[in-house]
Amino acid sequence: MVGRFAPSPTGIMHWGNASTALAAWLQMRAEDGRMLLRMEDVDPQRSKPEFADGWRRDLSWLGLDWDEEVAPQSQRGPRYAEALANLAAQGLVFACRCTRRDMEDAVSAPHGSFMGSYPGTCADGRWPLDGPGARRLRIPHDFFGRDGANLRDEPAAPGQLALNDAVVLRRADGAWAYQLAVVVDDLDQGVTHIVRGRDLEDSAPLQQFLHRTLGNPQPPQVAHAPLWMGPDGHRLSKRHGSVGVRNSELEAAQAVGLLAHGLGLRDRPDACTPRELIDDWRARGPATLACGEVAAASFLPLPL
Ligand code: GLU
Repeated sequence: MVGRFAPSPTGIMHWGNASTALAAWLQMRAEDGRMLLRMEDVDPQRSKPEFADGWRRDLSWLGLDWDEEVAPQSQRGPRYAEALANLAAQGLVFACRCTRRDMEDAVSAPHGSFMGSYPGTCADGRWPLDGPGARRLRIPHDFFGRDGANLRDEPAAPGQLALNDAVVLRRADGAWAYQLAVVVDDLDQGVTHIVRGRDLEDSAPLQQFLHRTLGNPQPPQVAHAPLWMGPDGHRLSKRHGSVGVRNSELEAAQAVGLLAHGLGLRDRPDACTPRELIDDWRARGPATLACGEVAAASFLPLPL
């Protein structure tokens, strides 16, 4: 069993991230699994080494350890290029020169989702694959196929992909896109179990498809941890004030107790260590992951 922490070092670890990290850690430590740390610094503009250091420090402060830190995504370009070539050889990639403006004009996309945002303009293969432009995945007609690879079997998939939901694999500026990088990494690093935030739930069927297409018949099992919400019903973020787990006056054990309570592992938010939660996880872990949202403002001792 292999799991991973996969933070994007584009900001600090807030309560929502920390609770997902705790759940991912408990899933591995309850089963003698192996935990990897992977910095998902795939976005060169937004990723910063100081944020990566902050994540390492905050995970350690909470008592969440890992067995190995694997290569950050910024060093894995050659592998992503190989995977892109593999997909292209299967006829699944096209070059796209639409600007953001072109796309905004063509569709009104649901916000925060990778789906429904592409009008399909360049999917006819009008641009050569060795020229400029972004690279998009040509989602096949039988994406929700009739055979054994039927992606509707994925239990955590609320969304349905339409044919015009062509996902970016590499941006026009050459940067690799999350969907490709995360699948190639999970595949190469032998990840078998993923716990991540519910905001990524829509991506699960697409990533299963990419795993299978890139030769992994057994994609990782994916579970989605609840999102932590502020008093206004939006996910905790900077606008709510001091939402970093380390920005409070709390001791680590108090923070872990609050995280455990928020996840529903403990009825009371009393201080504890992650190790002390392993039995609670065995009893309540699945229920924890079935919960959609945590009303953080109702019990976090912070001005939110
Ligand atoms: N790096 C992503 C994030 O921080 C997580 C990706 C994943 O777990 O698949 O939101």
